[in-house]
Amino acid sequence: MIGCHDQNADYLPFDGITCKHMDQLPVPFRTIMASRQADLAALHAYPIEKLAEIISEVGFHCTCCSRCCTRDFNGHVLLLDADVMRIRSFAPGSLEPVPVLDFCDQNGMYYASGYTLRSQGDPKGSCHFLDEGRCRIYEKRPSICQLYPYLLHREPDDKGTIDWRQISGLNLHGEYNMEISEKEAYSLALKIKVFEEDVLSHEIAYLAYTGRYFLDNGLRNVRKRFDDGLRSAWDGGVIEVMVFSNSGYDRWMIREGIPIQKQKTASDRIS
Ligand code: SF4
Ligand code: SF4
Repeated sequence: MIGCHDQNADYLPFDGITCKHMDQLPVPFRTIMASRQADLAALHAYPIEKLAEIISEVGFHCTCCSRCCTRDFNGHVLLLDADVMRIRSFAPGSLEPVPVLDFCDQNGMYYASGYTLRSQGDPKGSCHFLDEGRCRIYEKRPSICQLYPYLLHREPDDKGTIDWRQISGLNLHGEYNMEISEKEAYSLALKIKVFEEDVLSHEIAYLAYTGRYFLDNGLRNVRKRFDDGLRSAWDGGVIEVMVFSNSGYDRWMIREGIPIQKQKTASDRIS
């Protein structure tokens, strides 16, 4: 169970939205968590009907060009815990830590929020499962692949103004103004909202867990250590990474840019 520390008890339940003892977490975990919780509250307040209306109005239709299956077009594939468990059961070698590392403690250990799919290493960064323009795991593909290009989160525009985004890469791919029934748009809107809530809840759980881990083990987030370690990694060095997944850490090392999983150990888990 993910928990927040209570001086008089062990760990209090953490429901992914609120944490009574959040103020005990060290900075920067506490501040980032507060911001993500505000995002989650805004997401809860966003009316499904409005999203459904936008989906109907835009009338997006996928032309199966497969551009979204490349890092060149779409960055890395964000996986939820359920996706990780499912994919690990049949293709564990396709997983690797997300490319963005968030924290580094005074001992040089890095922390990442979860997993993505490996790319094939071609210039476009094609997904591990992309084969001649088709997804090899279509029936079992990750949640984000099932919903793309729809999204529902707030992002800064090119002027830095933060506002909602509902469709990714609008007018850069696919076809538009196709007919989508009200029922279909509403059902899609519901799924998108649940997905975005899951993404934010995972991020909040990661911050709560890592904050607690730092607190319990006397760790500090050290920016200089972070930068020095990455510089040495670019020069062929090795870095170690704790990857948060399914309420615990998996240990990885990255050697010459190649992620390799080490064993998961009980001591990496807060119970
Ligand atoms: S899992 Fe399939 S749908 Fe998702 S990015 Fe990879 S190839 Fe594309
Ligand atoms: S969602 Fe867009 S980028 Fe992806 S295959 Fe369909 S049209 Fe192409």
